Amino acid sequence: MKPSLFGYRAPKTLDEAITMLASDADAAVLAGGQSLLPAMNFRLANPSLLIDIQHVEGLRGISVEKDRIVVRAMVRHREFELDPAVRAANPLIHEVMQHVAHVPIRNRGTVVGSLCHADPSAEMPLLLTLLGGSVIAQGPQGRREIGAEEFFTSFLSTARRQDEIIVEARFPTPRAGAGAAFDEVTRRHGDYALAAVGCVLTLDAQDKAATIQLAASGIADKPLRLKGAEALLKGSALATGDLDAAVKASLPLVTQSDEANASVSFRRRALGALIRRMVVKAAERARSGSPQ
Ligand SMILES: Cc1cc2nc3c(=O)[nH]c(=O)nc-3n(C[C@H](O)[C@H](O)[C@H](O)COP(=O)(O)OP(=O)(O)OC[C@H]3O[C@@H](n4cnc5c(N)ncnc54)[C@H](O)[C@@H]3O)c2cc1C
Repeated sequence: MKPSLFGYRAPKTLDEAITMLASDADAAVLAGGQSLLPAMNFRLANPSLLIDIQHVEGLRGISVEKDRIVVRAMVRHREFELDPAVRAANPLIHEVMQHVAHVPIRNRGTVVGSLCHADPSAEMPLLLTLLGGSVIAQGPQGRREIGAEEFFTSFLSTARRQDEIIVEARFPTPRAGAGAAFDEVTRRHGDYALAAVGCVLTLDAQDKAATIQLAASGIADKPLRLKGAEALLKGSALATGDLDAAVKASLPLVTQSDEANASVSFRRRALGALIRRMVVKAAERARSGSPQ
């Protein structure tokens, strides 16, 4: 397939890029092109103008700060995966990145592009939701911070205004002593998840869950924090009965319809199994003092 006719601009500054975006309601930002270009080739997306941000000053680089990791708009998946300072600060990131597509796609695709694309089965939206992170949007009206749960609104949709560019994403670093785990069920390695679950928790002196964050993707039109399960597991010994209750509270959140890749009942079973396994694994890692 071939895309519809489109224009192409490659601004050098953020102000230029925002002015271009604001002047054409059908313009689209082009980052790594790994989602946008296939969508254009299938004519699922028909932007009149592509604004390529790869030469825009100030959109490169990762900053590992005291309590968060800041990823600017043109950071590729592979940079995020392989950066040793990122891996030291939050080993969960390296673990999650192994599941994002394949290396050639991770070499081109960007972390922020994946957040903006907002596929409800993608790993980066789940990671940002799990960690309680945020993005910074910049447009003609200035900058604003948007929390993950507000940012992802529904299938392939976000709270980003058409004239805004997401300039960075902020991934909070789990507190010291936390254990974390992530896994997903896919038909083949590198495919989008049929169900995915991430867990970050800390244990108290009695080996009970002092804090717990749980999130899932692939089950609804956007990534979800499993708040009912979090409330049930916090303060618990994470025994089988506690996990049963957490799974029971989470299953109604599966709102994906039956489709060729998975039925609703399959996704429910996958979600339940992943919740149990990720909570147990995160707790083992917290106990061993090895976050991954
Ligand atoms: C075969 C294949 C398999 C894949 N498998 C997976 C997978 O298993 N898991 C997964 O998570 N992803 C997968 N992907 C998608 C891949 O991760 C993409 O890189 C990612 O979704 C988009 O990043 P990008 O930089 O390529 O964005 P682009 O394709 O350039 O843009 C995507 C969308 O975001 C917008 N956008 C991008 N950057 C910005 C910005 N800074 N501000 C505002 N809007 C912006 C664009 O306008 C567009 O609408 C796969 C892709 C392919 C081709």
